[in-house]
Amino acid sequence: MKAADIAELLNEPACTHNKKEKSGCSRPTPGASAGGCAFDGAQIALLPIADVAHVVHGPIACSGNSWDNRGTASSGPTLYKIGMTTDLSEQDVIMGRGEKRLFHAIKQAVDTHSPAAVFVYNTCVPALIGDDIDAVCKAASERWNIAVVPIDCAGFYGTKNLGNRIAGEAMVKHVIGTREPEPVPPELVPPGIRIHNINLIGEYNIAGELWYLTPLFDELGIRILCTLSGDARFHEVQTMHRAEVSMLVCAKAMINVARKMEERYGIPWFEGSFYGITDTSAALRDIARLINDPDLIARTEALIAREEARVRAELDVWRPRLEGKRVLLFTGGVKSWSVVSALQDLGMNVVASGTKKSTEEDKARILELMGDNTIMLNSEGARDLLNAVYELKADILIAGGRNLYTALKARLPFLDINQEREFGYAGYEGMKELVRQLALTLESPVWEAVRKPAPWSQKAMVIAGPEMGDSPDGGDAVETHDHDHAAPAGAAA
Ligand code: SF4
Repeated sequence: MKAADIAELLNEPACTHNKKEKSGCSRPTPGASAGGCAFDGAQIALLPIADVAHVVHGPIACSGNSWDNRGTASSGPTLYKIGMTTDLSEQDVIMGRGEKRLFHAIKQAVDTHSPAAVFVYNTCVPALIGDDIDAVCKAASERWNIAVVPIDCAGFYGTKNLGNRIAGEAMVKHVIGTREPEPVPPELVPPGIRIHNINLIGEYNIAGELWYLTPLFDELGIRILCTLSGDARFHEVQTMHRAEVSMLVCAKAMINVARKMEERYGIPWFEGSFYGITDTSAALRDIARLINDPDLIARTEALIAREEARVRAELDVWRPRLEGKRVLLFTGGVKSWSVVSALQDLGMNVVASGTKKSTEEDKARILELMGDNTIMLNSEGARDLLNAVYELKADILIAGGRNLYTALKARLPFLDINQEREFGYAGYEGMKELVRQLALTLESPVWEAVRKPAPWSQKAMVIAGPEMGDSPDGGDAVETHDHDHAAPAGAAA
C-alpha cells in the first residue's frame, strides 16, 4: 500500500477525532503491550464473513495473532473458523517463492472448500519483500472464476484501527455494489407492509447477540441487507449499496465505509448502539426516522412501547439486587458510553469510565450521560486501575478479558464486556442477560470465601502467635488498601 493511501485512510473526515489528530485514533505508545497491528485489525473486522476463505499471506504466527479471537457466531457456514495461511518460511523469502505459494494457497482453498470468495490478507514479510498480492489475486480470480479480494494490511502500516479501515476500504473498492439483492418473496411480506432495507456496519454478532435483534427487524418489515460483518455472507456484502440507511454500530471500526456509501450511493447513516433499553429504542427510532415512512415510524413506536414495558417489568425483579451498586467501567470505543447508558437503565452508579480507546465523540457522550464531574481513566496499567477501584469504592469492574486476572487477583467481582465474552447483551433481550450476569457475578459466594484469611494461617497464628507472619494470611507480605469495601485484607494486584 502506498504511503498516500495510508495517509488518506488516516484522514477520516467523519471522525471527530480527526480534527485533533490524523492518526486513526489511538496511537500505540512506547512500551504499550495492548493493541494489535493493522493486519490484526483488518482480519478481525472481516473474519466473521462466514462463507469466505480467509487466507493469511505470511508467517504462520501472524495468522495465530488474530484468528478467531472474537466470539462471533454464524447461523450457517463455518468456513471462517478454518485458519488458512501460506506459512511463509525463510526459504520462501530467500528463494522468492511468496507469490507462488499464495497462488497455490488460493487454489487449495478453492478446491477444498468451494468458498463464496477468497480474501487474501497481506502481512509484514510479503509486504517488505514486495509480493504483488493484487496481481496474484487478479490472476487467481480469472483462473478459478471466483472473487479473490486483496486486503493489503501489513502490520507495520499502523494500528488495529487503521486495519479496520483498510478492511472497510477493501470492501468498498472490491465488493460492495457488485451484485443486486434478491427480491423478498411475496409470501413473506405481510399484507400492507412495505419492506425496507438497511445495513448494520460494525456489528460482529458476539456470542450471537445479533439474533436478539433480528426478530424486532423482522416484525417491522426491515430487511438487514448486510451486517458488516457479524454472521454475514459474501453475497450480502455485495448488495450493501441498496440499503436505505446504514447504522454504524461501532464508531471506530468502519466509519469510512458508512461515509463512502453516503458519498457514492446517497445512503444516510447514523451512529447508534444496541446496548441498553434506552439506546436500543433510540436506534430503532433513528432507523425509522431516516427511512421516513410514516407507517414504519408508527409501528416502530408501538413496538418500542410494547418491548420497553415488557422488559422493564421483567427487570424490576432484578433491580433491587443491582440498584445503587458502584461500577467501574473500563472498556473502549463505543461501549464506553453505550454501556454507561445500559447500566444507568438498571439504576447502577457508574463511578468512572475508561477512555483509552474512546474517540472524542465517545468522551463527549460519556460526559453527557454522567455529568461534568465524570472521572475518565486514561491509563491501561493494572496498578492504576486497581487504585481507582479502591478509591472510588467500586463494587464491580466491568472490563475486557485482559483485565480478568487483575480483578481476580484483587478478589474483585468482574464482568467481561469485550469481544471474548460468552454472553450477548444487545437489544431488549440482551439486557436481561446483562442483568442476570451482573447479579450472578456480584452475588457469587466465591468473593466472601476468597476474602477470608486462609484457614491454615489462623491455625499458624494460634500455634505461634501473631508475630509469625508478615501479613494477615501468613503468606508473602502483600500490599493492602485502606478501602474496606472492595479490597479485603490481603487483596493485591
Ligand atoms: S505486526 Fe506484522 S508480523 Fe506481526 S502479526 Fe502483524 S502482520 Fe504479522
